[in-house]
Amino acid sequence: MADCIFCKIAAGEIPARVVYEDDKVLAFHDLNPQAPVHVLLIPKMHIESCNGITAENSAVVAAVFEAAGKVAALCGVREDGYRIITNTGAHACQSVKHLHFHLLGGVQLSENIL
Ligand code: 5GP
Ligand code: ZN
Repeated sequence: MADCIFCKIAAGEIPARVVYEDDKVLAFHDLNPQAPVHVLLIPKMHIESCNGITAENSAVVAAVFEAAGKVAALCGVREDGYRIITNTGAHACQSVKHLHFHLLGGVQLSENIL
């Protein structure tokens, strides 16, 4: 999608520190990390948010979660654990309108989600 920063990263038009890539999924380090490991997992296909997931496109979301454990292993956090978060809409402060999942780890995270 034009003017979508994550579509441009997926197309290789904007550089990113890529951790993992397959035909449906890209994982790259967040520009502004909030944990020692902070990677974004995205479907290469443009889906605006969780609200855009349908029976027709949900296979790419499954592919993201199939990749998650591999990405965690590549980042060295698979055994100690990690958290995956996605923000949807204004109340969740979603700033990039291309579905993405934050994989956070490398430190003891709070028991609280908020
Ligand atoms: P959101 O707030 O939408 O859930 O998360 C968007 C995330 O994308 C933020 O953590 C932000 O740091 C990250 N981000 C925004 N622009 C870029 C970029 O151009 N490259 C990378 N690697 N991360 C970005
Ligand atoms: Zn996009």
